[in-house]
Amino acid sequence: MKQKLIAGNWKMNGSLEANDALVRAVAAGMQDAKCDVALCVPAPYPAQVQMLKAGSKLDIGAQDVSQHAGGAFTGEVSAPMLREFGVRYAIVGHSERRQYHGETDAVVAEKAKTALAHGVTPIVCVGETLAQREAGQTEEVVKRQMAAVIHVNGHCISEIVVAYEPVWAIGTGKTATPAQAAEVHALLRKQLLAASAHAGRVPILYGGSMNAANAASLLAQPDIDGGLIGGASLKAPDFLQIIAAAS
Ligand code: 13P
Repeated sequence: MKQKLIAGNWKMNGSLEANDALVRAVAAGMQDAKCDVALCVPAPYPAQVQMLKAGSKLDIGAQDVSQHAGGAFTGEVSAPMLREFGVRYAIVGHSERRQYHGETDAVVAEKAKTALAHGVTPIVCVGETLAQREAGQTEEVVKRQMAAVIHVNGHCISEIVVAYEPVWAIGTGKTATPAQAAEVHALLRKQLLAASAHAGRVPILYGGSMNAANAASLLAQPDIDGGLIGGASLKAPDFLQIIAAAS
């Protein structure tokens, strides 16, 4: 069985001082972890985290990446720049980027493609809003979001990470039930496998109010290969308990 992946998404939180304590505590506490662990940190911090993680198998991620490899794109950060700082993953298409920064399915797909081309693994986020779930559109929405990424990335699709993050569960304390999450993960797996025979190895993470108390039951589901954790990744004891649940 493949190792699970537990990725923290700090969002726009952190400071040199707070990161120092958090990364040291996570690195020290995860020595026996039998899962992969990544921290997706705000753009200025990969170098600091790189230094602090010394000796631990913690991976570093970014929370976004440009769809362009370089050039006149003020404010953007490119995949080659991330690579230079030892960044392994980049979240793309987080619902907060889709909602507040107008990112379309097409842009998200291009970001995934550029990241892959430069050795950064995209963590592609998909997920429905509460209104869409209540209108019975969950399957249609996540399939549409996934299809755009599959269409642009072709056979490389087996190299990505997917995160199912129902928008209504993000930062709300309302987690999808294990059965609700498993249902969507299964249909995403089926869609990925139809595109690539190797897509069985694509980790499909669950994200949305995952915490120390509910992680084990979610991670026990067949196609839930890990978690993308917001709030609980900012507290070392909570994040370490999730890592333990995945180990
Ligand atoms: P919370 O864990 O805070 O709900 O955030 C989830 C998320 O958006 C991770 O990307």
